[in-house]
Amino acid sequence: MHNDFRETCFVSTPTYNPQQLPLALLFTISSDDVRFGLMFFVFGLAFGSFLNVCIHRFPRQLSIVHPGSTCPSCGNPVKPYDNIPVISWILLKGKCRRCKTPIAIRYMLVELLTAIAFLACYWQFGVHFTALKYCLFSFLLIGLIFTDAEHKLLPDAFTLPGLITGLVLSLLVPVEPFLSVFLPQQGTGLSPRLEWRLISLADALLAAMIAAGFIWIVGALWTRFRGVEAMGFGDVKLMAMVGAFVGLKFALLTILLGSLAGSFAGLAIVATVWIKRLRRYASVQRAFASAQNVLRFYQLPFGVFLGASALVVVFFGHQAFAWYWRLYL
Ligand SMILES: [Zn+2]
Repeated sequence: MHNDFRETCFVSTPTYNPQQLPLALLFTISSDDVRFGLMFFVFGLAFGSFLNVCIHRFPRQLSIVHPGSTCPSCGNPVKPYDNIPVISWILLKGKCRRCKTPIAIRYMLVELLTAIAFLACYWQFGVHFTALKYCLFSFLLIGLIFTDAEHKLLPDAFTLPGLITGLVLSLLVPVEPFLSVFLPQQGTGLSPRLEWRLISLADALLAAMIAAGFIWIVGALWTRFRGVEAMGFGDVKLMAMVGAFVGLKFALLTILLGSLAGSFAGLAIVATVWIKRLRRYASVQRAFASAQNVLRFYQLPFGVFLGASALVVVFFGHQAFAWYWRLYL
C-alpha cells in the first residue's frame, strides 16, 4: 500500500527536464533551438557592433582595425565595458561617458537588426551552411543600407568583396536556379556533384551581370531624360552583389520591390513638401511645382530601398513567388 502510494506519486509528479527551459516549453521550441538561436543572436550583436565601425570608417577611408573604438566627438577610447552591443547604448542613455555627446541611435539599431537577421537566418535555414551564407549577406546589406542612408554612399569595401564572396559561395550553396531550365534533360555528362556547382556559379554570374546591367541602363536613361543623376555606380555594384548571392529570379524581384518602395518614398516626399509649400504659397500649382523641384534635386538613397528589398527577398522570396503563382494557377 505504502509502496503503491509512492509509485503513483512519482508517476504523477511532473518531470522537470533541466535541459528544457520553461520558456521553450511554452512555445514548444526545442532546447537546441534556444541554444542555437541565442548563439546566432549573440554573434549577430557582435557582427553588428563591428558593422558600426565599418559604417563610420569606410566613407572616411579610415582603417577598420586600428585604432580601436573611439568616441567620434572627443576621441576618447571606448572601454570594453562601454562597448557591449545594445546594452551599453541603453545604459549610457545614448551618450559618450566622457563628453556626453549623443551617440547616434544607429549604433543600437544596426546591432539589433544584425542580431535579428542572424536569428532569422537560423530560423529559416537551420544549422547549415546556407544560414552562414545568408548571415554574411544580411551583414553586408545592413552595412550598405545604413551607409547609404547616412552618407549617400555604397562603399566598394562592402560591394566588391561581397560580389566575389557571393560568387564563391554559389559553389557551396546553390542560388535560385534559372539556367538549368535550358539544359538538356540528360544532363551535361559531368558528375552530378560538380554539375550543380558549376550551374549555380553560372547562375550567380549571369544574375550579377543582368541585375547590374539593368540598374546601369535605367540609371543612364534617367540621367539622359531627367538631367539629374538618379542612381550612382554604387547601386550597380550593389545589384551585382545581390545577383551573385540570390540568383536572377530573386535579384529581379529585389529590383521590383526596391523600385516600388523608392517610388512610394518619392511620392511621400513630394506630398510632404507640397503640403508645407501650400502654407507658404497661395497657388496650388506653384506649391506643386516647388515640391517637384525638391524631388528633382533630392537624391533618394536608392541603395537603402534595394538593400532592404534584398533582405525581404531572402526571407520571404519563396512565399512571394508561391503567392504570385497561385494567382494564375
Ligand atoms: Zn566623447
